[in-house]
Amino acid sequence: MRVVAVVVLLAGCMSHEPIEVSADDPLPAGLRTGDVVHRGELAVEVPEVGETVTITVDGDDGTSFALSISQSPGGEVSVVDAAPDDEPLVIAAAAAGPCEDGAFHVAGHVWTTEYQWRFQAGSTPTANSKDNVETGLQRAANAIETSRNDCGLADQVSATARYLGRTASAPNIKGTSTKVTCGARDNANVVGFGNLPPSYLGVACSWADGAGHALEGDVRLSAKHRWFPLEVPTGCSGARYGIQAVATHELGHVFGLAHVSESAHPNLTMSTAAANCTNAPLTLGLGDVRGLRQLY
Ligand SMILES: [Zn+2]
Repeated sequence: MRVVAVVVLLAGCMSHEPIEVSADDPLPAGLRTGDVVHRGELAVEVPEVGETVTITVDGDDGTSFALSISQSPGGEVSVVDAAPDDEPLVIAAAAAGPCEDGAFHVAGHVWTTEYQWRFQAGSTPTANSKDNVETGLQRAANAIETSRNDCGLADQVSATARYLGRTASAPNIKGTSTKVTCGARDNANVVGFGNLPPSYLGVACSWADGAGHALEGDVRLSAKHRWFPLEVPTGCSGARYGIQAVATHELGHVFGLAHVSESAHPNLTMSTAAANCTNAPLTLGLGDVRGLRQLY
């Protein structure tokens, strides 16, 4: 009898083919780690028990979307509602300059350890230099951990990031031309390039435990967009974007910052639109710094 029981147990474990459900319908009971919850072009694999995963995407047309899914310690899977937009954190008039606009949103996770990350250099678009992209990404991470700004604000942010070098591993982000999915995490924080739905510049996937402590943060940038790896040069025109600027925004997500609206807060790094030919997100605005100070 004991043998039979083991066989039944194994069969039960192995018979669960991953299923996909919509976040906009009531989630069915019995969802498990590895099942997929989607909303439009965004999706996440259900994280491990006791963990939350959040996907945030940024379009080149100013659109942005996020989806956050938790699995409770008891195995219940649920959609985590985002904080409402533009709460009383706004302390300046709309369209204030970056040093006058104090708005920010936090996503719900914070790093309590050093963020140690690697770059999937082999994914670099052929038009770009791996070395320059590597430098641009390091400068982006540096902008967050030092709260780099042109507002005279001191660095009171205790967050730290450390670049561990290149890796052949990809971020745990699966992308096609119609969908992007946060997959299963692997304890490695990776930034790389890859396929994404056509308008998406970048995607950040963040995993956290039940206390909101970050466990992993991966970023995938579009392999199809035309990029400048470092600062966007004077005279830039057309649909070209700065890796350093967009990566600063995406790493803001990794460090726990959510979006503020582009219409009300266009000059902040964490506003939704990453306009072409702009270096604006390279340095943080007042709201971006206030958000990091609250978290760290
Ligand atoms: Zn974003």
